[in-house]
Amino acid sequence: MARRRDSFIMGDDAGVADCLLLEEITEQAFMDNLKTRVQRDRAYTYIGEVVVSVNPYKSLNIYGDDIIKQYEGRFIYERPPHIFALTETAYKTMLRQNTDQCIVISGESGAGKTEASKIIMRYLAAVSGHGKKVDEVKEIFLQSNPVLEAFGNAVTNRNDNSSRFGKYMDVDFDFKGDPVGGHIANYLLEKARVVKQSKGERNFHIFYMLMRGANDQLLGQLELSRDPNTYNYTNQSGVNAVKSLDDKKEFEAVLKGLKTIGFTQADQNTLFEVVAAILHLGNIVFEGGVEGTTACSIDAESRKHLSAVAKLISSTDDEVIKALTTRVVATRGDVVYSPQQATEATIARDALAKAAYERLFSFVVSRINDSIKVDASGRNKVIGVLDIYGFEIFQDNSFEQFCINYCNEKLQQLFIELVLKREQEEYEREGIKWTHIDYFNNQIICDLVESKNTGIVAILDEECLRPGDVTDKDFLNKMDERIGSHAHYRSRQTDKNEKSLESNRDFVLKHYAGDVVYNVNGFLAKNKDTLFQDLKRLLYQSKNGTIKTMWPEGAADIKEVTKRPVTAGTSFKTSMGELVQNLMSKEPHYVRCIKPNDQKASGVFDHERVLHQVRYLGLMENLRVRRAGFAYRLPYDRVLQRYKMLSPKTWPHYKGGDLKAGVELILAACNLAVPAIQLGRTKLFVRSPKTLTALEEAREAK
Ligand code: ATP
Ligand code: MG
Repeated sequence: MARRRDSFIMGDDAGVADCLLLEEITEQAFMDNLKTRVQRDRAYTYIGEVVVSVNPYKSLNIYGDDIIKQYEGRFIYERPPHIFALTETAYKTMLRQNTDQCIVISGESGAGKTEASKIIMRYLAAVSGHGKKVDEVKEIFLQSNPVLEAFGNAVTNRNDNSSRFGKYMDVDFDFKGDPVGGHIANYLLEKARVVKQSKGERNFHIFYMLMRGANDQLLGQLELSRDPNTYNYTNQSGVNAVKSLDDKKEFEAVLKGLKTIGFTQADQNTLFEVVAAILHLGNIVFEGGVEGTTACSIDAESRKHLSAVAKLISSTDDEVIKALTTRVVATRGDVVYSPQQATEATIARDALAKAAYERLFSFVVSRINDSIKVDASGRNKVIGVLDIYGFEIFQDNSFEQFCINYCNEKLQQLFIELVLKREQEEYEREGIKWTHIDYFNNQIICDLVESKNTGIVAILDEECLRPGDVTDKDFLNKMDERIGSHAHYRSRQTDKNEKSLESNRDFVLKHYAGDVVYNVNGFLAKNKDTLFQDLKRLLYQSKNGTIKTMWPEGAADIKEVTKRPVTAGTSFKTSMGELVQNLMSKEPHYVRCIKPNDQKASGVFDHERVLHQVRYLGLMENLRVRRAGFAYRLPYDRVLQRYKMLSPKTWPHYKGGDLKAGVELILAACNLAVPAIQLGRTKLFVRSPKTLTALEEAREAK
């Protein structure tokens, strides 16, 4: 028995299970160990209590109910590394300490974040209690996955099932520790994908699922073809099917999920009507138009699609065509209709498609939330699970990457705040001697982005609000002027030696994870994210009450000077701030996901690719800090309870009142002393898992 534990904790042919046990803390040693483990099908490795997960790209037989049983009620170091163990820790800590927990999952696209979040949910559902309401909530949580993935995921070049939105999910537990409800927050859906996909990628899954999975009757009602090649929004990328995804079968799962969540038949129809309307919208082609006098027109083929759109959104042909080909502007109380030319109408069409889809997605999420809502009296504590995009460095980085990378800066800041700072604070509180360790604090980069007047988001907003023909280049110039000397910013203008940067186009942010070159073109438009009032009104005036509710601002009178809508950048900044505040109030647990290669192949360890991720996930720093400190802390009552048999003075019962004194008796009996351990005010601090293993072995030998 003891030998078996020894083999996975202390290392067997599959390397060491906890990197704290590495002989030396070098990148090389870390990488070698990870590689050995991957090649022996060990998907998980610890850095103390952080789970490093390397995507195995094959199904491992480690997720069954029998395995869940093995982790239930166990300490993290008693079983091989697993997300189950981390989830068990979060769950038990919540119950024992009555505190909120959160699990932060990070890593790049295809690294396995979403799969990890599902594994977490399965474990929580399996180990918590039952009851009619509780089982219903569990079912909604599990069944909402196929729905969220259908509407929010897509085939990309990196991942056949890539989440194109960030997700934070709170699971509410009652006093007994049973899930009674929850809430899902979604962030920054990549809506540009609705109208345009790169070579080899697809639009959101639901478009193809609907075309392939709907029965003939539904398809007829939606006037849809079964062939994605029919539609401009699904035929541009050269790919409309992938082996790993059975669209028809998945559609069944979506229907089942919608039903479980509580979507009525009418609401389901609305979802599909909006999806179909978007497909038809994309096929409307505009021609001609004369500036100032004549609006563009559409041909007979487009007319068919236009009518379909009108029918599907419960409007009329005339209303739709008016909204797309003319623009209403109110100048000093007068309402003026300005005719649009073909290019302008096409832009409006795409903007409408993107906005309609985004609203639809938010609607789906809000419906899920309605179905798992629980009032304050029923819930006690929560476990939050964050599955959010990792750091992105592409060939061409735009506003989206800027937001995503800023999000990762915030999460790094959270990590520093929660893990590094709090750790040091705990040592102080518990009176533990330890050496302070230095780390790079990325607050300076967060400030560069978010500072009230001088941050990049503020500068961008300022340029967006400035009247006149303001261009992306003006925005770049203003950044050069205001933050040109900042240590984490540069452009060709501020640094003449930067030969690789295009002047008047590129700027570099020196992120904690590395330098990223951003192309400034498109920043203004994406930040403004304008959708003309005509289009909002069109949908607000829909006879379909559900569509109407998705567009409340369509109610505004055109003559009213409408308040400027919040920009995309500011709105993202605000939601990140709230997210971090929320996570900050919880006890964190980390899953760091790594993608081992770009071929989606099992057993292939691409050294360069992995090293890159190890660096930007900050794993070595994490390891150094953990090694310098104490990886494990055990409250005295638990030490006494678990190891009382190790000293005749504490067995069968410890009679003394002072828990710490009792623990000291046990430690003395095992010859354990400083520096392997230290005694805090309320907890035993253990430096290395070796010590825990020794204790466990001694216990079993009794
Ligand atoms: P994105 O940021 O693009 O959403 P992600 O990090 O969420 O990526 P996943 O969708 O979770 O990545 O994983 C990508 C694919 O990798 C999965 O569809 C699955 O094929 C495989 N995979 C991930 N985790 C596991 C696992 N634990 N076991 C087996 N296969 C896995
Ligand atoms: Mg994902």
